[in-house]
Amino acid sequence: MATAARPQFGFLHQALEDLKAKQLYFQLRVLEGEQKPIATFDGKEVINLSSNNYLGLTSHPKLRRAAIDAVRRWGAGAGAVRTIAGTMRIHLDLEEQIAKFKQTEACVVFQSGFAANAGTVSAILGKEDLIISDELNHASIIDGARLSKAAIRIFKHRDVADCARICEETKDWPGQKLIITDGVFSMDGDIAPLPELCSLAEKYTCIMMVDDAHSSGVLGKGGRGTVDHLNCHGRVDIQVGTLSKAVGAMGGYVCGSRELIEFLYHRARPFLFSTSHPPATVGACQAAFSLLDSPDGEKLLKKLWSNTKFFKRGLKRLGFQTGKSETPITPIHVGDAGKAFEFSRRLFDAGLYAPAVGFPTVAEGKARLRAIVTATHKRQDLTRAHEILGRVGTELSII
Ligand SMILES: *Cc1c(COP(=O)(O)O)cnc(C)c1O
Repeated sequence: MATAARPQFGFLHQALEDLKAKQLYFQLRVLEGEQKPIATFDGKEVINLSSNNYLGLTSHPKLRRAAIDAVRRWGAGAGAVRTIAGTMRIHLDLEEQIAKFKQTEACVVFQSGFAANAGTVSAILGKEDLIISDELNHASIIDGARLSKAAIRIFKHRDVADCARICEETKDWPGQKLIITDGVFSMDGDIAPLPELCSLAEKYTCIMMVDDAHSSGVLGKGGRGTVDHLNCHGRVDIQVGTLSKAVGAMGGYVCGSRELIEFLYHRARPFLFSTSHPPATVGACQAAFSLLDSPDGEKLLKKLWSNTKFFKRGLKRLGFQTGKSETPITPIHVGDAGKAFEFSRRLFDAGLYAPAVGFPTVAEGKARLRAIVTATHKRQDLTRAHEILGRVGTELSII
């Protein structure tokens, strides 16, 4: 169907032309095979610094086997939403396993991290309530906040004093109040000041919620997340995590009190109105959490962090600006979006895939590459990545 010829869709054509003019237009890169550290995209083999597959679990033999076993025993699909007939025994087993892992009373799994955030924030808050949110929080938190119709106040990124100012200004707010932050910020790789935000939540009687999408399987003992990493056990009311990144499969979860989880059973719209995970996904997640808590998991985490340090050191030595990242997420700052996209294209031609991100994913004028190393990269892959980045970065006068 030629959309350009349909007058009611002329605006789509115009919007795409505008993106092209601003050099923000992209085509999807197609992965031909597994998500691996050396992978083939669009027919070209490259060093893959583009995935969230922190521990290499997407293709780990234990997850594959568990997924296949679950299909054999439980079938290919769940066949209903959780509240009707789609709660299988394995869904509950996985939730119990995650709750134990996170040292919380209970857990509920959603179809994605996005659904977990948007579904939870919009369920627990209404139009009389207030959301106090870090300016760089993930889109799923922002959408959940909008859906809730609560008032939204934004504090400057990781700025505890600014958050305190808002808490003080709103201390007599009649409704519920929520302080919400990403644990690790997805575009900058920096870590939230969680202990300080917890103190504010305690002082001003706010619900405290953290989105640990990029810290699940990355930070804390066995990858338990920022709450564990920063010793905040018992101080965070709602912990969200994803099963789609380090855990290697798909989904999101919410951990908290039994009452919170039961409330979400009754009110979270993605839980009520969208079918539960297929057995293969549940099986893979169960295998992933078992692995995280084993010596093999420990080894993978160690490797992830030694690779991260090695990669970042090399970038600094080359003169790249990597911002305040403290995690495997490594932004390489460029500034101009056109230049960032060109940098990424030229790197790809030279054998390295690190995607460029521009507006609206990050603020205008703050375009960057976003590179993520994993536990499964070999040292020689990272040395070669340094060489390519150094050469192309010099050609484009980025360093
Ligand atoms: C990726 C991400 C999500 C969404 O998780 P999915 O499981 O991919 O839907 C939520 N929050 C943050 C901070 C993320 O980076």
